[in-house]
Amino acid sequence: MKIELITIGDELLLGFTIDTNAAHLARALADIGVQIERRTTVGDTAEEIGAAVREALDRTGAVITTGGLGPTSDDLTKASIATLFGRGMRFDEEHWAWMAERWRTRFQREIPEANRQQAMIPDGATKLRNNHGSAPGIWLEDERGRWVAMLPGVPREMRGMLADTLLPMLRERVTGDRVVRSRTLRTTGVPESLIAERVGAIDGGVGDVALAYLPNVDGVDLRVTVRGASSAEADRRLDGAVRRLRDAFPREIYGEGDADLAAVVLELCRARGLRLAVGESCTGGMLGARVTRIPGSSDVFVGGVIAYANEIKTSLLGVAADLIRAHGAVSEEVARAMASGARARTGAEIGVGITGIAGPDGGTPEKPVGTVWIAADVRGDARAALLHSWGDREEVRQRAAQAALNLVRRMLAGD
Ligand code: ATP
Ligand code: MG
Repeated sequence: MKIELITIGDELLLGFTIDTNAAHLARALADIGVQIERRTTVGDTAEEIGAAVREALDRTGAVITTGGLGPTSDDLTKASIATLFGRGMRFDEEHWAWMAERWRTRFQREIPEANRQQAMIPDGATKLRNNHGSAPGIWLEDERGRWVAMLPGVPREMRGMLADTLLPMLRERVTGDRVVRSRTLRTTGVPESLIAERVGAIDGGVGDVALAYLPNVDGVDLRVTVRGASSAEADRRLDGAVRRLRDAFPREIYGEGDADLAAVVLELCRARGLRLAVGESCTGGMLGARVTRIPGSSDVFVGGVIAYANEIKTSLLGVAADLIRAHGAVSEEVARAMASGARARTGAEIGVGITGIAGPDGGTPEKPVGTVWIAADVRGDARAALLHSWGDREEVRQRAAQAALNLVRRMLAGD
């Protein structure tokens, strides 16, 4: 089945809001074998909405919209699409009663009259249940089976309605058992070109799948996709491709899907009964933030020091002032001393040290911007690594935090 998507809102055209609804819908629909053929964004005017939906219906006969279902004057979606279908609008008493009750129990007050508009439904439409807000979604279909599904703009409401109501409806309509299915393997620490080279050398290739290289600041993701196969066949091909890739990159792949390296490291530590502490300079707490973002991190992560100034490296992490003078703050020696200091000062089994030049200023010919030393000390067994990072200040810092996590991961995995 092919569908067109129309996202509605001036804020999307102006760039104030990023169209996350479109991305989420595309992924969720692909999972059930439905492809988005074309995507359009229009502003909050009845003419624009009507014209976009009419053209999309002419092409595919199947349209999803998001946005413009609210109670305000810029919410025009329902009325303009009803006009297109030659339908009037009726007031849905049942929905109004449900909304009024929801306001009373949730907000302890009477529902404003302005919300009446949300209970206006095109004639002959089916309501799509909204478990996360008050505006219902709308399903409108004509005599020829052409349809429009109208979803709310608020991402949380849109996602809920999609999962609870629209996806199950569409799944029933998908004829046959053809799916679009993907799996993503996450690598870090290896440049894209080297990965491509090694993939090219896999004996017999990765099989009948499409392979995409998706570089990002955390590493390179490898996504394999099968289109237009049965569910069982797609899974068989994906399993085969994933196995071959995992064999080719036994150390570089740290997880699948949206796996977070921080969570992977926490799990490795937890399984071994090890606690983690950090001494961070150029990352300014970013590593600690990465780790503490993961629920349940408290049984592994004890804390750390943001040792930005040299005096703090000395007073709080015990890095000898002479060492800093002799080698410079950005050096293997200091990174190692920070890692060991973080460990010693906190009593954790693992200490991590990060020191580098994030830029844009501060680089020298010997130590250009992007030079970062990371070190990890696991119960006295210490290792250090030098990064030649690139990108802007934020990217250098993100890469440093990711590389430090990866160093710990590889040490714990026994590489
Ligand atoms: P409301 O009842 O709040 O008016 P609505 O269904 O009318 O909801 P909009 O008014 O279009 O939806 O958008 C509500 C909020 O959702 C806005 O803050 C907007 O930035 C956000 N939003 C709308 N469309 C999208 C989109 N395509 N991607 C991400 N966010 C969006
Ligand atoms: Mg609105």
